[in-house]
Amino acid sequence: MNLIIGQGLAGTLLALELRSAGVPYLVAEGNLWNSGSAVAAGIINPVTGKRLAKTWRWETFKQCALDTYRSWEKLLGVELFRETRLLRLFRDEEEKTLWRRKKGMLEYSGLLGPSYSSEELGPGLKDDFGSFEIMQAGVLEVQTLIKAARLLLRKEGSFAQRKFIHEELVINDNDFSWQGKRFQNVIFCEGFRLNENPWFENIPMEPSRGEIQKICVSKSLPKGIINRGKWMRPTSEGDYYAGSTHRWDQLEMRSDEGDRKEISRELGSIINGSFEIIDRKTGVRPATKDRRPVIGFYPNNSHLGIINGLGAKGSLMGPWLAKHFTSALLKGKPIEPEVNVRRYFNKP
Ligand SMILES: Cc1cc2nc3c(=O)[nH]c(=O)nc-3n(C[C@H](O)[C@H](O)[C@H](O)COP(=O)(O)OP(=O)(O)OC[C@H]3O[C@@H](n4cnc5c(N)ncnc54)[C@H](O)[C@@H]3O)c2cc1C
Repeated sequence: MNLIIGQGLAGTLLALELRSAGVPYLVAEGNLWNSGSAVAAGIINPVTGKRLAKTWRWETFKQCALDTYRSWEKLLGVELFRETRLLRLFRDEEEKTLWRRKKGMLEYSGLLGPSYSSEELGPGLKDDFGSFEIMQAGVLEVQTLIKAARLLLRKEGSFAQRKFIHEELVINDNDFSWQGKRFQNVIFCEGFRLNENPWFENIPMEPSRGEIQKICVSKSLPKGIINRGKWMRPTSEGDYYAGSTHRWDQLEMRSDEGDRKEISRELGSIINGSFEIIDRKTGVRPATKDRRPVIGFYPNNSHLGIINGLGAKGSLMGPWLAKHFTSALLKGKPIEPEVNVRRYFNKP
């Protein structure tokens, strides 16, 4: 039996991998404050940031994500992933020049789509410098996946609603005991609460807390996700999720007036017309300092595992990480050095 700590996106994807391999497992989930997956917008975007950088290992991660989410859609009977138009508004002429240069690069082929002049897409946008489409983007319904998976896990007796206290884990000669049960492996998928973990607490993390809002807009907007610094993602009910902010301190805190104002100010520079905030939520992105995910096993006890560091790109990277970890756990396949937790332990 395997024990998974945490049922955010990482723990969910791992549980479903173990389940499909026919391996027994139990997930312990404490429903703790500010989980990232409870608020994540699930946007998958191949070209991000001011430098229009192509997402690391885009092709590999995207293909794996597509295949995996299609499988879990069949298993769980819910819609999880859909390709979505993503419209990025140019900031200025300089960004346009950068876009032209990148559009001509082989590496970006199929990712940078058509451009539009100012107001070509209607009066709803403040697109003084025009806009362009990012192709192959998509949206994962993160909370739908977690909810549907939890129902299945509960039905099959593989879910325990309980906070795992690390000191309660008994390390035996050949396995572990917890809450009267024996486990061969314990795998930590704790998100930003990794800092409470005595085995992996030294991994250099840089988690960031962020606010996401649900808003209703007064003017109709072009379809799809709209992005310039802040983003707006259509919801299934015709509203938008909008976000987000980054705060690197007081991770346990709820977002505050500063977060609310920051999002409102930036949205005001993207769209014409008014909008009303319907809801506000806060979560923490579990990012590492080196911005790479972290999976693998504790050097002094290879039955203690970890999947973490999904940062702001969990929806894209999660499926590949869960599969890669599972083949290491069950088949002893090597973990790629760039994502292996050993990179932090091998340092002098
Ligand atoms: C505002 C915001 C917007 C985001 N938007 C996107 C986006 O558009 N696209 C995208 O890909 N990503 C996005 N993310 C990032 C995404 O949320 C993360 O990549 C991903 O959800 C991390 O999943 P996780 O399972 O590693 O961590 P978490 O989601 O934090 O899950 C950890 C889980 O472990 C549980 N847990 C922790 N410790 C214990 C314990 N001791 N005992 C029991 N349970 C425990 C917690 O309760 C929690 O449920 C966003 C994040 C935020 C905050």
